Amino acid sequence: MPTVFTKIINGEIPSYKVAEDENFIAFLDINPNAKGHTLCVPKVEVDKLFELDENTYLNLMQFSRKVALALEKAVSCKRVGVAVVGLEVPHVHVHLIPLNQMSDMDFSKKVSLSPDEFKTLTSKIKAAI
Ligand code: AMP
Repeated sequence: MPTVFTKIINGEIPSYKVAEDENFIAFLDINPNAKGHTLCVPKVEVDKLFELDENTYLNLMQFSRKVALALEKAVSCKRVGVAVVGLEVPHVHVHLIPLNQMSDMDFSKKVSLSPDEFKTLTSKIKAAI
C-alpha cells in the first residue's frame, strides 16, 4: 500500500508543491505547526531517515537546505526549525518550520490556513527558490 506521500509524488492526490527534482519533492504541510511549514520528501519510499542509503540521505539534506533558505526569505520568521518525526506517515520527510517562538516546534499546536493562504505561500516560496 503506497504512502500518502507516494500518492502525492505520483500526482494521485493534490499538494501545495514548492519544489521538485528527479529524486525529491517539497510541499506545504496540510496541517501546519506554523505558516510555511514545509515537508521535504525523497521519492523513494523508505520509512525511517537513517534507513536511507547514505547518498540519498545527504542529497535530501542538500535539497532541504535549498528549500529552507527560500522559506526563510519568503516567510517572516526568526529562523527555520528542522524536525524528523515520522510517527504519522511512514515515508521519510524533513519538516521545515518557520519559527517565531519555541511553541512553533510543538506538533500538538496547529494553525489553520485557508486555500488562498496555502496558494499564496506556495507562490512566495517557489519564487524564492
Ligand atoms: P509525522 O509522520 O509525525 O512526521 O507527521 C506527518 C506530517 O505529514 C504531519 O505534519 C501531517 O500534517 C502531514 N501530512 C499528512 N498528510 C498530508 C498531506 N496529504 N499533505 C501534506 N501534508 C500531510
